[in-house]
Amino acid sequence: MTLKIDLHVHTCYSPDSLITPDELVLYAKKRDLDGVAITDHGRIDSALKIAKEKDFFIIPGIEIECSNGHVLGLGLQEAVPQKLTTDETVERIHKAGGIAIACHPTAFLKGKLRNYANSKFDAVEVINASVLPFDHSVKSSQRIASKLGVASVAGSDAHYGPEIGYAYTLIDAELEVDDIVKAISEGMCQPFGSAIPIRTRLKRELLALKKRF
Ligand SMILES: [Zn+2]
Ligand SMILES: [Zn+2]
Repeated sequence: MTLKIDLHVHTCYSPDSLITPDELVLYAKKRDLDGVAITDHGRIDSALKIAKEKDFFIIPGIEIECSNGHVLGLGLQEAVPQKLTTDETVERIHKAGGIAIACHPTAFLKGKLRNYANSKFDAVEVINASVLPFDHSVKSSQRIASKLGVASVAGSDAHYGPEIGYAYTLIDAELEVDDIVKAISEGMCQPFGSAIPIRTRLKRELLALKKRF
């Protein structure tokens, strides 16, 4: 079957995200998603907990800040430490049975990927709905995916409920974590999406400010 999954979502367990577990499910269903990958910064306990508690399909994931870029690990049961190189991080993810995705590899503000030629990524996040300028980021990320010869995926990088689903990946797999992770590593997937509208970004900024003060 073809699944529609947003592979990059942050919940309120990430300090910079506003999305509660209830909102995550609400907006994911509104967007007709079959599931989402929760990829909180530096932790996987939140994703594992929400996956158990909610009656909605969740892929447990983590976003790892490496010394030379950001990496998404999907299909893991435990966290991988931050601040290693991407080579070491990808190796650790594979040892733990997951797949490694180079996320927003060309983003200026979010952590651009550097010195990655020897990192054994399974996929590149070619579409990230949060990155600006959007078109430039898609084109240059596509070049990286074809240079590495790996699959292309997409995710919203949502930090606010209404941002969920602006980018998503269509995956040829059964609705099971192991099958999805395998399908991505075999390239049985296609990225889709558009940039999160400016109005939605501004609303998020305002709400985040309100929360802080
Ligand atoms: Zn990032
Ligand atoms: Zn992110």
